[in-house]
Amino acid sequence: MATQPPPEGEVYLIHLNTPMSHAQHYIGWAKEVEKRLFHHRNGTGSRMLAVAAQRGIDFDVVRRWIGDRHFERKLKNRHKARMLCPICNPPKS
Ligand SMILES: [Zn+2]
Repeated sequence: MATQPPPEGEVYLIHLNTPMSHAQHYIGWAKEVEKRLFHHRNGTGSRMLAVAAQRGIDFDVVRRWIGDRHFERKLKNRHKARMLCPICNPPKS
């Protein structure tokens, strides 16, 4: 059973396994994150991730928040994607 996506959409953080031109993270917004990730992997989403896919760099959504485009903008403006990433900043046990 598929659950209904939240009406305001979701903000997602993508971590690239290999840094690409000093960037290793991508923050985006989508109504349906799985669908958007499919496009990213296909090279039909964002330019940056299309290039990553072309180069054979693997990437995945590592974190997501329910929120609208304003929240996406807020997160992007902070320039702290690395701090938000659970792979770059594993929680201390
Ligand atoms: Zn990361």
